[in-house]
Amino acid sequence: MERRLKFYGWGVEDTGLDNAERDQLFRFVAGRLGVEPRLSAPPQAAEIALRPPRIAPPAALAGLLTHEPYERLLHTYGKSYPETVRAFARDFANAPDLVALPKSEADIAGVLDWASGAKVAVIPFGGGSSVVGGVEPAVGDSYAGAVSLDMRHFDRVLEVDATSRAARIQGGILGPAIEAALKPHGLAIRHYPQSFEFSTLGGWIATRSGGHFATLYTHIDDFVESIRTITPAGVMESRRLPGSGAGPSPDRMMIGSEGALGIITEAWMRL
Ligand SMILES: Cc1cc2nc3c(=O)[nH]c(=O)nc-3n(C[C@H](O)[C@H](O)[C@H](O)COP(=O)(O)OP(=O)(O)OC[C@H]3O[C@@H](n4cnc5c(N)ncnc54)[C@H](O)[C@@H]3O)c2cc1C
Repeated sequence: MERRLKFYGWGVEDTGLDNAERDQLFRFVAGRLGVEPRLSAPPQAAEIALRPPRIAPPAALAGLLTHEPYERLLHTYGKSYPETVRAFARDFANAPDLVALPKSEADIAGVLDWASGAKVAVIPFGGGSSVVGGVEPAVGDSYAGAVSLDMRHFDRVLEVDATSRAARIQGGILGPAIEAALKPHGLAIRHYPQSFEFSTLGGWIATRSGGHFATLYTHIDDFVESIRTITPAGVMESRRLPGSGAGPSPDRMMIGSEGALGIITEAWMRL
């Protein structure tokens, strides 16, 4: 059975320290710091009362959007320390009203069209490893509600160009899955952030990630040949070129955009 991601911290459920180990670690650290340990067990989905969703999906999108509690909890926070502290305090006040699980670009466009008209905020979600509050649906009261749009179904390497050593890769694919798909071709993505195991290509591009485990070329900027993005105004796709010095670079606008300009569905990447 596929294991689920923890909704309150790093990794998948049933991994990491057990309660006795956590207890020992807390007491050790508290002793070193000379403070009283305040032990707190990891939160359980069943003990958190979520606000009822403020919005309902239209019938045509009902199959793409869920208000299932675990999904809403998983999409509330990234993995920064302050977010983890709030998760352990059982504070999920900003949980998204709905989570979208699109399988195609048409699905994404459908969600964005509806959300634009209904004044609903849409926040892209890759692996959820953001450490800057990038995935938290804290959007304020000027929106009718918030949808977290999870890219987990965009999980494939679509095309490999061995001659140019490049590949067309979907935005929601996790690091290890990219490596597994490229290995039979004798190629590698060669971008290794420390969050590699649970972060996605779209997330790397949107956060302008640095591959701190690699040597020499470490920035995602160096590997992008072109990007395809679904925006609320339509599709934006840059031309795939081995290199270009002509005019402003549209890729530079998307790299580091933190999901504010649209949803990155695929990119040609140098390998
Ligand atoms: C333990 C740990 C180690 C880390 N190590 C590194 C490191 O070495 N280098 C580094 O740069 N960062 C690191 N990070 C930070 C984080 O992993 C990176 O920012 C990563 O690129 C985020 O990818 P993600 O798929 O998890 O994106 P998410 O956390 O899901 O999203 C991050 C941002 O990108 C947007 N987004 C996600 N997917 C898309 C998409 N398809 N289209 C448009 N916008 C999208 C989101 O809305 C959000 O604003 C680390 C984090 C942790 C917890």
